[in-house]
Amino acid sequence: MSDLRKEYYQSLGIDEKVYDYCSKIEEELKDRFSEIDKICEINQMKVILAMQKNRLSESHFAGSTGYGYTDEGRDVLERIYADVFHTEDALVRSQITCGTHALCVAMFGNLRPGDEILAIAGKPYDTLDEIIGIRQSRGSLAEYGVTYAQVDLLPDGSFDFEGIKNAITDKTKLIEIQRSKGYAVRPTLSAEQIGEAIRFVKSVREDIICMVDNCYGEFVQDKEPSDYGADLVVGSLIKNPGGGLAPIGGYICGKKEYVENASFRLTTPGLGKEVGASLNNTKAFAQGLFLAPSVTASALKGAIFAANVYERLGFKAVPDMKEARYDIIQAVELKSPERVVAFCEGIQSAAPVDSYVTPVPWDMPGYDAPVIMAAGAFVSGSSIELSADAPMREPYAVYFQGGLTYQHAKYGIIMSLQKMVEKNLIVW
Ligand SMILES: *Cc1c(COP(=O)(O)O)cnc(C)c1O
Repeated sequence: MSDLRKEYYQSLGIDEKVYDYCSKIEEELKDRFSEIDKICEINQMKVILAMQKNRLSESHFAGSTGYGYTDEGRDVLERIYADVFHTEDALVRSQITCGTHALCVAMFGNLRPGDEILAIAGKPYDTLDEIIGIRQSRGSLAEYGVTYAQVDLLPDGSFDFEGIKNAITDKTKLIEIQRSKGYAVRPTLSAEQIGEAIRFVKSVREDIICMVDNCYGEFVQDKEPSDYGADLVVGSLIKNPGGGLAPIGGYICGKKEYVENASFRLTTPGLGKEVGASLNNTKAFAQGLFLAPSVTASALKGAIFAANVYERLGFKAVPDMKEARYDIIQAVELKSPERVVAFCEGIQSAAPVDSYVTPVPWDMPGYDAPVIMAAGAFVSGSSIELSADAPMREPYAVYFQGGLTYQHAKYGIIMSLQKMVEKNLIVW
């Protein structure tokens, strides 16, 4: 009997036993995947509706240079983003260099000396440490007289409402909530959960700005934190909402006043959103947003597939193979450095770009252990494309995310297992 699919996997170096094991697992995920498809469909409609409503047209893709005054395409794209996130306004720019920068601009634009930031989901993402001044650094908000306070999540991963109430003072100006767990050991927060915390904060004081670091969470659910009262949602275009096509960029969506404040920081007071040439990026941003719901769904399916492949072999998957998902990140504790290396080799060798490269651990600045990274991406550093990284220390957890297509994510995971099997690192 001919099985063309199996033949292709074999010609890509996958053993029959590995293929059969993974195929069986995929069979069992059909219902789960069909739930994801439904969310994807809702988000796809949401995006198309926003594009039609704002009369997106071919002429908007022309781009602009220089100052970028009257860049109609850029402005239309921002109205589309605002409609997708159901916010009053949006800043979606090529001049925002990454997610960290977007968060920095949102905070600096909206905070003044004497104000306090309160993080209510524990410590923010590592790259915010030096922006806020949690780790001392030149130019931090701390240097400008903005203070910082933090309330950790409770041991079960829920918000500490009592703690939040006690931590809010007259100085509290902005609340920071990180939706994705990032590399922390806590569950990712659902948009509903975030909404509950925002309602609580607003009940203590209405005028506190609630900002959500939305990185990796966009389009995973059928609603966004901005549908639940977030005043600002912020993220990177080389993650979910760029759909793999955005070559750079970040977004800040939210209340008009707060988005404008951010724009005065990104460009200058006075100039704000009026300047900032889109160069040639508007088409990629728009088309990427159009693809983002299905790209995100693909990455999500890949993550669930991986959790199932590895958990059934006795490894701890976080989130586990059955858990509800609120971001696209998957961690697997592989328990040995050899397995971590083999995993990353598999992801790398399955890539469309740089598949022939062998990833090795290296001493990356800012990390306490060597880090290994696997990525073969069309956009450098893009983590909506299939990529993996791991610090070489206990419990030897590998973090991975992305996959522009489910088929590629699946192949990458199968290849990671294949590499481990070849090195006798798996007990079947
Ligand atoms: C990726 C990420 C960031 C920072 O984004 P960069 O584009 O890497 O600067 C911030 N917060 C979270 C939760 C992230 O996942």
